[in-house]
Amino acid sequence: MASVANPADINPRQVANKSDKRAFLDAIRMTLAVQSPAVRHNTQTFNRNRYAATARLADYDALKDRAREIKQNAIANLPELLRQLEASVRANGGHFYLAKTAADADRYISEVLTRHEAKLVVKGKSITSEEIKLNHALEAAGITVAETDLAEFILQVADEQPSHIVAPALHYSRERITALFKRKFTTDLPLDTGEELTVFAREKLRQKFIAADAGISGANLIAADSGSLMLVESEGNIRMTMILPPVHIAIAGIEKVVPSRTDFGTFIELLPRSGTGQPLTSYVSILHPPLKAPPFAAPGKQPKTREFHLVLIDNGRSRMREDPVLQEALRCIRCSACLNSCANFETVGGHAFGGETYSGGIGGSWEAGTGKLLNARFSELCTGCSRCVNNCPVRIDIPWLNEALRQRMNFEQPASAAKSGFGAMTGSAAEDRVAPLQKQFFANYHVMAKGATRFASVSNALTSMPFVRGVMESVVGLDRRRKLPPFPKKTWEELYRTQQGRGTVRTDLPKVLMLADVFTNYGSPERGMAAVRVLREVGFDVELSAPLPDGRAAISQGMIATAREQAVPLAAMLMPHIDNGETVCVLEPSVLAMLRFDYAHLLDAATWSRLSKGKFVEPLQLVWSLTEGASLPDLSKAFPAGRSPHGKHVFYHSHCQQRTCNAATETIEVLRACGFDVVTSSVECCGMAGSFGYKRDYYELSMAVGEDLFAQVRAAEQDGPRTLVASGTSCHEQLWAGMGRKVLHPAELLVSTLA
Ligand code: SF4
Ligand code: SF4
Repeated sequence: MASVANPADINPRQVANKSDKRAFLDAIRMTLAVQSPAVRHNTQTFNRNRYAATARLADYDALKDRAREIKQNAIANLPELLRQLEASVRANGGHFYLAKTAADADRYISEVLTRHEAKLVVKGKSITSEEIKLNHALEAAGITVAETDLAEFILQVADEQPSHIVAPALHYSRERITALFKRKFTTDLPLDTGEELTVFAREKLRQKFIAADAGISGANLIAADSGSLMLVESEGNIRMTMILPPVHIAIAGIEKVVPSRTDFGTFIELLPRSGTGQPLTSYVSILHPPLKAPPFAAPGKQPKTREFHLVLIDNGRSRMREDPVLQEALRCIRCSACLNSCANFETVGGHAFGGETYSGGIGGSWEAGTGKLLNARFSELCTGCSRCVNNCPVRIDIPWLNEALRQRMNFEQPASAAKSGFGAMTGSAAEDRVAPLQKQFFANYHVMAKGATRFASVSNALTSMPFVRGVMESVVGLDRRRKLPPFPKKTWEELYRTQQGRGTVRTDLPKVLMLADVFTNYGSPERGMAAVRVLREVGFDVELSAPLPDGRAAISQGMIATAREQAVPLAAMLMPHIDNGETVCVLEPSVLAMLRFDYAHLLDAATWSRLSKGKFVEPLQLVWSLTEGASLPDLSKAFPAGRSPHGKHVFYHSHCQQRTCNAATETIEVLRACGFDVVTSSVECCGMAGSFGYKRDYYELSMAVGEDLFAQVRAAEQDGPRTLVASGTSCHEQLWAGMGRKVLHPAELLVSTLA
């Protein structure tokens, strides 16, 4: 078990396998201490570029649909495509090998190279070769492998695994690369600039290309009808790897096969844009091996005959194809958009949020599918924020995969009387009672919160006692450094019953059912009441629902059966209102996302089909919708910013899932229409993410993620203070922790303008 005191002394390889919990936690410490600045800078640059590049694509959504359809059909018809591909490769004069396992692939490739008496092999970047640990196998066979991608070259020198699926050494700053090269090579060169480092590496690699006996490449896609390979790259090294040596071995997972070369175009449009934000990479190769032109030969020597081998690797993929959840990951085109748009990944990178090979939100499914389930432990860093979902070019529901992995990991846990008793007491579904106490505690938040609000004064006194916090930390892992918001004396439901002012109802507006989500009901009822008042002020007829749990807390702990047991009655409660044409207004954005997307996984098809016809909106979306109607309210008169005691200058942070639901811009529009001067945050997620930031294991990471948001607040306040406004409960708590002051909900800000 890895446990090193000083994070700077931890080598990433020591903590690559996350089946060891200690290694996982050490990896978080190491990446936060050593790698975070470079990872942040590089991923956030890619992410910004991706937003810009995809915004310029007029048919982005259609392209995503097309890409998903191609991959979907290819996975469905995979056995047939593999037969067709084998025939194409052989007809072209190449060799075809389908390796069942990593060891099988390594053996085949070693045998081919040994037969050719190869001593030196040049290699292009291939994540699949990392998966099968090809370099180790070849070195054991006495063959030297030269990584020719600059990033892979750096990692080979450092003996580290990739930290990113597109930019494997993105955790290295220029300064760290200089120090590494100075340590590992004898040179008088200063190596102080990116250009000097590149020239230095290129000089070393040129010699390898010239002397190489064989080249090994990966493949982004392979066409079954022709045996053509598609490869995208920035450096040109892959092209040289495939063209210069006499023997070319291409390796790829079986999921890379598509029916035809004509399918490549869609992915050439999407892949570079989704990855680094480039409209096109510097080199796009579409190759039809073996090439007819002779390979490189040193002056005075005869070129050898070309030979081409396509090695397709199964290594668990056929099993994934049969798996109702993991088969979704086979559609992945390894673009890295889900890594770069993920706040947690942006902060620690793939040496913590990744395993021995694969990283990021999608990485857990690949580690579990091609290796062991527990290697996917790092998928715990997926908070379900959903920022990656709209950015995935093949529309993979990445948080759902991670929730399902979490469920499987829960099931690997040994049962115990304590867990079972606690689960029965708090309402966990029978099959989820093997989950750790911490997960059951957070999954059943509504039960604890209900009891705590009933005796709010006692609960608040208890939870402010260091001894109690210590017990909570050791029993359920609730970090004692995280301040707990006080429980209210009256729930939202109780306040609503006692404060029933109705305002003038406009009969032309739809009736609104306000969902009494458990987070607002037991945590911040004043926010809920503010939302009710704002909607009534502009003429909506608003009713508050009963406070039922919605499954959000449970699904994020991987307790899917519990989430389902909560979703079914909530859906039944909503259905008559939906059938009646009412609008369902949801204050808590994570619950809004739950109703709009996640219930597809929890409800039966017929119920989901009915429920998904419902209109689920955020309160200020409803207010903004009035500005599109026949009788426009003047928001600057309805909620005049000048009357707010909080002032006109605000900093607004919208919630991650609110943005995924496309439900954030209306809030900003409403506030501006009322006369507020609004500066908005641009972070993907505040880092709190429900229970995530409360957990002892992730507190430091959560606060490190939050630092980007806090820095944006500080920057916005250079000319004077601003009132902090946020839409999500978690965001309130994170801003409160980071900035040390009160945060308002937009509805509370609007209510503050009312006389
Ligand atoms: S859902 Fe959020 S936390 Fe999870 S992988 Fe996607 S972006 Fe990252
Ligand atoms: S899951 Fe989607 S976004 Fe992530 S790497 Fe794969 S294709 Fe790209």
